[in-house]
Formats: sequence, C-alpha cells, structure tokens
Amino acid sequence: MTIRVRFAPSPTGHLHIGGARTALFNYLFSRKHKGAFVLRIEDTDEDRSTEGSVRSIFESMKWLGLDWDEGAMPDGAEKGSFGPYVQSKREAAGTYRKYAEELIKTGKAYQCYCTAAEVDEMRRAASVAGRLPKYDGRCRSLTEAQRKEFEARGRKPVVRFRMPDDGSTGWTDLIHEEVKFDNKLLSDFIMLKASGYPTYNFACVVDDQLMEISHVIRGDDHISNTPLQVNLYRALGWQAPGLAHLSMILGPDGTRLSKRHGATSVGEYAKQGYLAGAMKNYLALLGWSTTDSRQLFEEGELEEKFDLKGCQKSPAVFDPVKLTWMNGEYIRKLPGDKLLEMAMPFIKEAAIPVEKSPVPLADIVALEQEKYRLLCEIPAKIEFFFSDAKYDEKAVEKTLKTPDAKKILAGIKEAYSALGGFKEAEIEAATRNFAKTNAFKAGQVFHPVRVAVSGRAEGPTLFRMMEYLGREEIVKRLEKALSLI
Ligand code: GLU
Repeated sequence: MTIRVRFAPSPTGHLHIGGARTALFNYLFSRKHKGAFVLRIEDTDEDRSTEGSVRSIFESMKWLGLDWDEGAMPDGAEKGSFGPYVQSKREAAGTYRKYAEELIKTGKAYQCYCTAAEVDEMRRAASVAGRLPKYDGRCRSLTEAQRKEFEARGRKPVVRFRMPDDGSTGWTDLIHEEVKFDNKLLSDFIMLKASGYPTYNFACVVDDQLMEISHVIRGDDHISNTPLQVNLYRALGWQAPGLAHLSMILGPDGTRLSKRHGATSVGEYAKQGYLAGAMKNYLALLGWSTTDSRQLFEEGELEEKFDLKGCQKSPAVFDPVKLTWMNGEYIRKLPGDKLLEMAMPFIKEAAIPVEKSPVPLADIVALEQEKYRLLCEIPAKIEFFFSDAKYDEKAVEKTLKTPDAKKILAGIKEAYSALGGFKEAEIEAATRNFAKTNAFKAGQVFHPVRVAVSGRAEGPTLFRMMEYLGREEIVKRLEKALSLI
C-alpha cells in the first residue's frame, strides 16, 4: 500500500501549536513509511480565508522543516499530479458539484430551500420540546413543483446529505479504537452551500478520495465530523482511508490550549528565539511517546521512530517550561558559528554595536552558551562587551561598596598593568597571586572584579571574558568602578 497523508489547514489564521502538531505527525508518518506528504489548502470558508494566512502557514511549515512532497507551493505554483491542491480552485473546476449531483441522482442527497433563519427556528423549537436540535428533514421529499415554487421566490438551495435514520456509524480509529455514533444523533448536514461552495466535510471526503489519501491523521476535535464523512464515503461507494485522531492538547491549567496560555502560533515562538529543532522535538511528544519515553531526539530520529501505536488517546498537556528547557538543550548542541547565525537577528534587533567586537563575535556569544534557554536572551548577556558596563545597583552596593573592594580593585589594576601578556591563564594566575599575597580568599577577589568589569554579579567565565575585553578596556573599567566607590 502506498502511504499518502495530508495536512489540510483552513487558512483563517496562523499555524498554531495544534495544527503544527498535526502537520508534524503527518509528515513523520509519511517519512517513516516512505510515503507522500501532501499540503492541501481548505479555503472553503469564503469569509475567513486569507492569502496572508496561507503565506504564514507556508512560512511556519518551512521553519519547522516540514517539507511537503505535493501540494500548494509558496510561489503560487502547485507540485504533484493530484492537483489542484487548493479547494477554491477545485470548486471552480466543478469537482464537488459533480459528486453532489451524483448523490442527488441516487437519492442520497437532496436540495433544501430552508433559510438559515428557518433552520435556526426549527432548532430552537426542537430544543424547547426536548428533541435534538437538528435539521428536521422537511425538504427531504419535495416535489418538482415545490422546488420550482421556491426557486420562483428567489430561494437558492443548499445540498444536504440524507443521513440514515436508524442504525449507527462507526469506524476503527487507529488511536481511539472503536468509535460509534447513533445515526439518530447525526443530522442531514449541508454538503454544498447556497453559494455552490462545498462545506468542509464534503470537500474533505471528495479530496481525500481523489488524492488517494491512505491515512487521515488529524486532531480529535474532528471526531464528531468523522461519522458524517464515513457516511459520505459509503454513499459514494468509496472506502474510507485509515482514520487516526490525535489527542487534544490542553494548557498547563487543564483547559483546552488557547491564546490565554500565551503564545500559540508557531511564528511567535520563532520570534521569541525557540529553535525549530526543539519545537519539532517538543511537538512530537504532544500525544506520542516511545516505549522508553525518550525526550530528546537526534536529527532524523523522529522520522525513523514515529508510529501511530505510540499515540495516546488521553489529552496531552502543553508545558511551556519543558519546551523552554528543551530549547536550552538544543542551543547547547549548536556549533559556535550556527549559534552566532541564529543569534544575529536578535542581536541586530537589540541594536548592539557588535561591529566593534574585540574578538570574533562567535566567541563572545559562545561564552554563555550553556546557560541560554532562548535566543532572545543573548543580547542582554553580551551587551556589556560592547558598551560601558551598566552597573547593577544592587551589585555595586553589595560587592563594590565594601571595605576591601577599593583595595582589591586598585591592587588588581596594578597587577594587570604589570602583566607581560593578557591571556586567560596569565590573568587567572595574577588574580590568584594577588589574593594569596594579600590574604584574601579567591572568591573575595573574583567577585568585585567581575562586577567592576561587567557590571553584573554573574556572567561568563571570568578570566576568558577579561581576555576578550582586553587589558586596556579592563583597566579603564576598573578605574571607573573605583570612581564609583
Ligand atoms: N481544514 C480542516 C482543519 O483545518 C482539516 C481537518 C482534516 O484534517 O480533515 O481543521
């Protein structure tokens, strides 16, 4: 069997965590089984679909490295032989209407002339009477004359699916196992709107069939749509693809993940300095795990290890703290030049004058690589290299305004001035020697020196940092600190 899966976003906003997880699982499944990953744009919501959203989705998919083999492409072209891959284009080509007409002919669908207001009223009345608030099927068997009369009154019909009245509709979900709905609960849903545009449930089934999709992997918020789709497959004489519904994603407070929980779009995470690799790794664990509960994956490993068996039914919890931890792990693994490249947009944004860097900028950025959790933290950590140290008042009070600090800074300044060179090891030896000769503990000296030259109570390894800053600058800063005391 050829594996073909698709990600089918509705372009009504940015790519959010939930959508990105769905896209990723489809992508991983296709890679694992050497199949095709299709990107289909479901823009049948004429009012809410935008070009900007399509672009933003493309961008986030590219950022995450979820390359698709077929589908709509960012340059407006299409790739693959099952196109068009945009539903509005398929609608224009008459694809959906053709199948709707087929179903009308066989009596499995019918034209309904009820207005939205009439349907609302019928639902309300049903609710009041304690019945299910669903369409009551009053247009199921209109005569030709009745239809003509509606049309003469200017009414345009929608096309509704004739849902079986009795029995049930079920399927074996690849994650949720046996799922079954009583047909009485299902309504004669709209397949084509009065505008001629298909609804999601109808367009999705037609496209999944025509695009030869083997597995539908999507969020479990679609479980209630699936019985409608299963009925459509049957009515059209098609076999439904494998169906896998991914667990819901909750925020840390146990409610469905939403804007209230902070950034939810992938683009926002990219802007905040998350790495695509970390994001991909983290998303993979939202509803999936290996038998040994692995947390961190090497490049290419998820593509090998992913399987639907490891997907869970119960909701997954989005934990921003864990994501940030994971991001730190990924930053730690970056080679210096890559870290610099990724940090550069953040450094530029913070307008740090790095052109005056005393040593290669990558060396400075790498000094605290172990500690970064987000790329956006980097500018604040390296700033003191490029501008006069901004003294942290608390650190000045606590560390510089002490009886010994003046003596220490003045002595250290002399010691450094007398050094032959100014390399890390020499600076360290001179500093330790000063401490020993003057009966200070090493820390008693290191601490004020650090605050004096960087303005901060903590930072990168002290002697390397001083080597990078250079003797002249260090002496200048020691003098400045002395003038503050
Ligand atoms: N356009 C639908 C959505 O964005 C696709 C759902 C599906 O994968 O069938 O939710």
